[in-house]
Amino acid sequence: MTERVLAGVPASPGTAFGGVRRLDSSGESDGIVLEESARPIEAARALDALSRSARELEGLAAKLRADGRTEEADILDAGTMMAEDPVLIEAVEGAVLNRGLTAVSAIRVEVEAVAAQLDMLGDAELAARAADVRSLARRASRLASGDSAPAQRQTDSDVILVAPDLGPADVIELDGNVRGIALAVGGVTGHAAIVARGLGLPMVVGLGSDVLSLADGELCIVDADRSMVIVSPDRDRLEAVRAAIAAARDARARAMASRALPTVTRDGRAVRVLANAATPTEVRVALEAGADGVGLLRTELAFLEAKHWPTVAEHRRILEPALTQLRGLTATVRLLDFGGDKTPPFLKGVFGRGVELLLEEPDALSWQLEAILETGDETELRVLIPMVTEPGQVRAVRAAIEPIAARRGIRVPLVAAMVEVPAAAVMADRIAPEVGMFSIGTNDLTSFQLGIDRTRPGGSPAHHPAVLRLIAATVDAARVAVIPVEVCGEAASNPLVMPLLVGLGVDELSVGAAAVARVRAWVRALDFEDAAAIARRALDAESAVEVESLGRPLRSLLDDAG
Ligand code: PEP
Ligand code: MG
Repeated sequence: MTERVLAGVPASPGTAFGGVRRLDSSGESDGIVLEESARPIEAARALDALSRSARELEGLAAKLRADGRTEEADILDAGTMMAEDPVLIEAVEGAVLNRGLTAVSAIRVEVEAVAAQLDMLGDAELAARAADVRSLARRASRLASGDSAPAQRQTDSDVILVAPDLGPADVIELDGNVRGIALAVGGVTGHAAIVARGLGLPMVVGLGSDVLSLADGELCIVDADRSMVIVSPDRDRLEAVRAAIAAARDARARAMASRALPTVTRDGRAVRVLANAATPTEVRVALEAGADGVGLLRTELAFLEAKHWPTVAEHRRILEPALTQLRGLTATVRLLDFGGDKTPPFLKGVFGRGVELLLEEPDALSWQLEAILETGDETELRVLIPMVTEPGQVRAVRAAIEPIAARRGIRVPLVAAMVEVPAAAVMADRIAPEVGMFSIGTNDLTSFQLGIDRTRPGGSPAHHPAVLRLIAATVDAARVAVIPVEVCGEAASNPLVMPLLVGLGVDELSVGAAAVARVRAWVRALDFEDAAAIARRALDAESAVEVESLGRPLRSLLDDAG
């Protein structure tokens, strides 16, 4: 077999290899038409399968809740409600009684009809719900066919799960042999992707129908870091991947073993390592890996389907599971960063982004602040403002916080500004006196400064001197105002950029949950003075390529550390 490469979209980082295991979610009938006399018993079997699915999902949700994984449990509750939906039950029953479909076919066809309706709405978030619905079809049709074990078969060898799409319940129930996931469709914001990231399972989505033609057992590599799946890899490639996976596993084990050690460079400079999170699962994984807290809680991702500005209660429901884990620890909660590619239906057609939108809706801002101050009461709370461009925006947010804090009888939490548009970096000396911290969002900052799409394959070069100069200006302004600087963009966990950030004087790095242990090990491997000398030279470089060669010695230090 010759090697083939399928290009996709990374949904959960890492590399894995194994034999293909196909998980079918066919919405087609098996073609059997039952005799009239056989239909009532078959209909009862179909309804029983739906009801047992609801019970299975309930059981899974209860286990997750007991583990503190409330968000994933909530997702499964939606599956339970679907299994108990009277409209679906009536449709399935009718398909058996009136059209003579078998229980399995009736479930597949009718549930697929619901999923297809969601697909047709052309909305990424609703398409993610369609995956949850199809997952229910798989579970119920398995039960209807008399197979009570989960669809995954136990084998001893490593497995790459291949499917058109997956629901979160499928991911949660994966057996211990599944090493990676490759999906024909699937979304990065889908629930399965959230769960896979929490579990640290590499996952590539959007691979197209080609991936569905892979045979069971065919060897393939899921390389989420390079957005691809390699089918029937040649021997050299496989050996290289095996070695890389083994090295990554060893490094992870070493990093986890040292999670109690302080994050101090070899020459004694302390750099805090915190986590970026949008879900309670990520908070849990990050804390287990030794994170000092959360440096960026993205609050808008939970509301991308919202029909209106979230109410106090809705905010509270999302914040509580994350913030209760952060008692006594840093909890940096970012205000809603709606706009751009994070525009919910109720804001369609509205321009503006982040704080600009919030200040146009003072009630919406107050509702979120109310919930943050209430649920973050026992944390080291920091309220982070997205897309700041001028000092007046910070003053306006603080003015909204003060009466709420006064009413609650608590002190005003630290207010921080994101530096993620060049305007904020240029104005950093004017903004710094208004805030208690800067958080540099290199994802947007790089994109706006260099005029490139932040989602382009391979990422965007935060090590370009034009971006590094903005970061340096921000750090300089922070030093004068005596406030800390955090970096919360992806650059903070990039082995080329991270040493330059430390060298430029950044105090805190906030990184994805799965990267916390690694970045902590990196800090300990670095020498601050060496990093500072190279960072200074990088500011004078002409191009990102030149910075790459300047930074190579530091990068190899990190490669050895983890
Ligand atoms: C950033 O822009 O770097 C950032 C952290 O914000 P987000 O990725 O959520 O836009
Ligand atoms: Mg941003």
